[in-house]
Amino acid sequence: MQGPLFIYNTLTRKKEEFKAINPPFVGIYVCGPTVYDDVHLGNCRTFISFDLIYRYYLHLGYKVRYVRNITDAGHLEGDRDEGDDKFAKKAKLHQVEPMEIVQKYTLGFHDVLKAFNTLPPSIEPTATGHICEQIEMTKKIIENGYAYVVNGTVYFDVEKYNKEFSYGQLTNRKLEDLIANSRELDGQYEKRGPLDFALWIKAKPEHIMRWPSPWSWGFPGWHIECSAMSSKYLGDVFDIHGGGMDLQATHHTNEIAQSQACNHKAPVNYWMHTNMLTVDGVRMSKSAGNGFLPGELFTGDHPVLERGYDPMAVRFFMMQTHYRSTLDFSNEALQASEKGFERLMSAVALLEKIKPANESTFDVKKFEQNCYDAMSDDFNSPILLAHLFEAVKAINSAHAGTVSFSKDDLEKLQKTIHAFVFNVLGLKQVDAAQANDATDELLNVILKLRQQAKEAKNFSTSDMIRDELNKLNITIKDTKDGATVEYK
Ligand SMILES: [Zn+2]
Repeated sequence: MQGPLFIYNTLTRKKEEFKAINPPFVGIYVCGPTVYDDVHLGNCRTFISFDLIYRYYLHLGYKVRYVRNITDAGHLEGDRDEGDDKFAKKAKLHQVEPMEIVQKYTLGFHDVLKAFNTLPPSIEPTATGHICEQIEMTKKIIENGYAYVVNGTVYFDVEKYNKEFSYGQLTNRKLEDLIANSRELDGQYEKRGPLDFALWIKAKPEHIMRWPSPWSWGFPGWHIECSAMSSKYLGDVFDIHGGGMDLQATHHTNEIAQSQACNHKAPVNYWMHTNMLTVDGVRMSKSAGNGFLPGELFTGDHPVLERGYDPMAVRFFMMQTHYRSTLDFSNEALQASEKGFERLMSAVALLEKIKPANESTFDVKKFEQNCYDAMSDDFNSPILLAHLFEAVKAINSAHAGTVSFSKDDLEKLQKTIHAFVFNVLGLKQVDAAQANDATDELLNVILKLRQQAKEAKNFSTSDMIRDELNKLNITIKDTKDGATVEYK
């Protein structure tokens, strides 16, 4: 029934049949967030796409170990070997410990992914929890002759590596072209070649996040953590490595080089990459002013957004585009998705009420096969949704009495719809109780904003909040324990 599963492999630039190294086990590694700020919506798309992939493997009966890391050290500004550490910079700004920054944004990240109904990974390792492994791997790369030490910093020797392996294979580029396109940077005098990158960085005196190593007190380079943690939990060679396509050229290229230089084996069989986000056709970014956060998308609190959208409608919206295509956000598209999502959910609810007939006028077996074919063709969720909507049409017609299902077919239809809508696509009904919880939380946020405005003696804002809530028949009561609300 299910047939072979095909995956587009970035490494070979074609769709290939998936063969697990050790079936029924499958190892998946996905590069997680750098937790120094609120999670970006583009990152959410990557994690939601891999949630779909993870869920489909589980549905097919594979035993999946899904590892998604948390980068909590070693990530410098501009993703290079020079510049400020992202955590230390933020910690200094807010006068807190770097680990307070990490804790705050890790919790926030988990909250957002939970709102999107993603399953937690099997292991969520952190860079700071695996300093020893990163040091050991760096030692081995030096021993094997692919890295060198300058003033306590360890660099990977890209040109030496490229004599035996192909450094640019993931993005299909030649080393000469990469070198020609590389920019000269400050501090590069330590490196032998312009593409060399740091495995270990000697800490400057003011750098607070530092660990002892054979070379210096310092911290690991950004790329080594994923090589060290993926091989620790999934082995030197594993099935799938994923991430956003922006990671291909440097981070994933360097991961392959590190693992290959350490273990003399290509680490990953299938590389998968998700595409980026645009808003009304323009790439989402802070500078373009269209970079709203997941939380803002839920509340509608951003100039680009006409109003808030439920996380499940947003998830449905994301599933309407294939993970390798650009996903374009617009209010119109989101509102259309909301309607589509509601139509799908009403049909799922209606399906429970349909009575079986003597014979079927809808080919349920073919429908089931179509669902598997869509997902087994590189996880094609938009095609899957198109098939689900054929079933929605049939369910609505059955309710009107123009389509019928036999008892067996009705059961199969219910089973298939439940499996693909809930287990694979990861959608769920939006219940009223949850909506009320969200309203309570929103009210608390509004009350906090009013309190802040009052403390800042910004009485026009605090009065405006009171008056606007009044219009909604909500009265603010100031008590000695703080403000509460009463519904009129
Ligand atoms: Zn990574």
